[in-house]
Amino acid sequence: MSVETQKETLGFQTEVKQLLHLMIHSLYSNKEIFLRELISNASDAVDKLRFEALSKPELLEGGAELKIRVSFDKDAKTVTLEDNGIGMSREDAITHLGTIAKSGTADFMKHLSGDQKKDSHLIGQFGVGFYSAFIVADKVDVFSRRAGADASEGVHWSSKGEGDFEVATVEKAERGTRIVLHLKSGEDEFADGWRLRNIIKKYSDHIALPIELPKEVAAAEGEEKPAVEWETVNRASALWTRPRTEIKDEEYQEFYKHIAHDFENPLSWSHNKVEGKLEYSSLLYVPTRAPFDLYQREAPKGLKLYVQRVFVMDQAESFLPLYLRFIKGVVDSNDLSLNVSREILQKDPIIDSMKSALTKRVLDMLEKLAKNEPEQYKGFWKNFGQVMKEGPAEDFANKEKIAGLLRFASTQGEEGEQVVGLAEYLARAKEGQDKIYYLTGETYAQVKNSPHLEVFRKKGIEVLLLTDRIDEWLMSYLSDFDGKSFVDVARGDLDLGNLDSEEDKKAAEEVAKSKEGLVERLKTALGDSVAEVRVSHRLTDSPAILAIGEQDLGMQMRQILEASGQKVPDSKPIFEFNPAHPLIEKLDNEQSDERFGDLSHILFDQAALAAGDSLKDPAAYVRRLNKLLVELSV
Ligand code: ADP
Repeated sequence: MSVETQKETLGFQTEVKQLLHLMIHSLYSNKEIFLRELISNASDAVDKLRFEALSKPELLEGGAELKIRVSFDKDAKTVTLEDNGIGMSREDAITHLGTIAKSGTADFMKHLSGDQKKDSHLIGQFGVGFYSAFIVADKVDVFSRRAGADASEGVHWSSKGEGDFEVATVEKAERGTRIVLHLKSGEDEFADGWRLRNIIKKYSDHIALPIELPKEVAAAEGEEKPAVEWETVNRASALWTRPRTEIKDEEYQEFYKHIAHDFENPLSWSHNKVEGKLEYSSLLYVPTRAPFDLYQREAPKGLKLYVQRVFVMDQAESFLPLYLRFIKGVVDSNDLSLNVSREILQKDPIIDSMKSALTKRVLDMLEKLAKNEPEQYKGFWKNFGQVMKEGPAEDFANKEKIAGLLRFASTQGEEGEQVVGLAEYLARAKEGQDKIYYLTGETYAQVKNSPHLEVFRKKGIEVLLLTDRIDEWLMSYLSDFDGKSFVDVARGDLDLGNLDSEEDKKAAEEVAKSKEGLVERLKTALGDSVAEVRVSHRLTDSPAILAIGEQDLGMQMRQILEASGQKVPDSKPIFEFNPAHPLIEKLDNEQSDERFGDLSHILFDQAALAAGDSLKDPAAYVRRLNKLLVELSV
């Protein structure tokens, strides 16, 4: 045992303590994954070394044969993993194995319910990594030395996985990391060659470097203990370089878990090799679940970039647009230089053409999923739909394709669920319908009952119901789909085109003519509050509604702009009344100008309320209404 100096005890960051506690209690049914997680880290560490050694070959001194070794000691009840990768300095060990650097972690931890079953799902989304060692071990020793550092600069990190850990500086002859797991009582099954081999085959076969286990050999004559011989147990070739037909689904799935740090299987993947002017392979995955930090600006995104099989960087963001930031995967290029940097990636025209090809691959994969696995696609939409809605604004070239992937709630869909696609909508559109109708609003309940839908209900025309905050903004980027234009039913002078018969139109014109007087009176009464007053042909039950001007901002956009501190141009609504409604008839016959004024303001305010808007002067509304109620009861 070497001498330990500068020994100190440090506390784990609060989030680490919470994670440790939770993991130990939530993941006991899936204990063996600790090995996958630790091997995954070791493989990353080797990748990093290989890359750094390109410019500093001396880092490989003491062994260029990169590998991971897993051994065990039945008597001592230990399992040991050793890699000759990049290693850690004392400071690295303190930060990497004592804190969690992911942004939003504290917030994420707050959302855990304490219900172990539910939380184990969540924790999977979070990715447990190194700390999973404590699922099976009650003490973990890590010995590490950074490649290139002096042998005297090794670190020994040790913890029982409770509140704190110890670090000391030690001598370590070889670079890289050795992790010794002291198995909990009852977990000695893992100190077994056969068991370890099976776990490695099951989860880590795809790891591109050799994972070795000691071979059982008989002692040579005259020797007490046999010499250790090592044997590679995994396939040890980069998965994406192999032909598709030879790769099993399980292998694709395990590889995904390694690169995505995810616990769950992916929903779908697409593996391709491109040859010709540009040469590269890509393996792209759609996760099943959204990561906890999907909406964090600094959250990791982008692909793992390899150049001719050598790992170059994580989170290479230049290969996919932002609205596809949830896609995980690998791209391995033969054209890029090994010393490519993020800055170069941003400017390189090669990257632009790879980006558009990869984007198309992802959209194709999603189209296929939507077509072949509609149930799965529903799940996808629930998790990632909001992000996909950023697409039309960001990616003009693929607007139509993205639009085809969008899903909405609708007057004919499942209650409140975003399941209706535009192609499906058009397929069941009414004969002669050449528009796609939609209505935006705050909540599903509000839009579903909106008076704007009355005429559509009467005629049996489907209307998409859009209630995500981003929807109105999204629709400002979509003008048409499959040659049919979008129409906001709360906007402008609704023209149902061919859906209104000639007789309907004629009748409407006649009614409008007969109500010209009422229109004028209302204009005077409502004055500055309205841009226009007109007879409505979209109402069957309600007395009146407020329509938005063709060019004006809708409520959602107004609220978004106001919240971001921008000045919003004032716009006035159009007051439309239903000539057949008894209240309107009453109004038309009202002789007293005062009562006419009160009643028209009440109708105006009610229309605003029904649209989910707030009243400019609620007290005046109450006063007027009460006045009428009093008159009514005498
Ligand atoms: P993640 O791998 O998601 O970053 P982990 O908790 O698994 O999270 O690991 C934390 C960090 O510890 C890693 O990012 C890496 O910097 C370091 N680390 C873990 N294992 C090793 C290893 N075998 N060699 C070098 N560094 C390691």
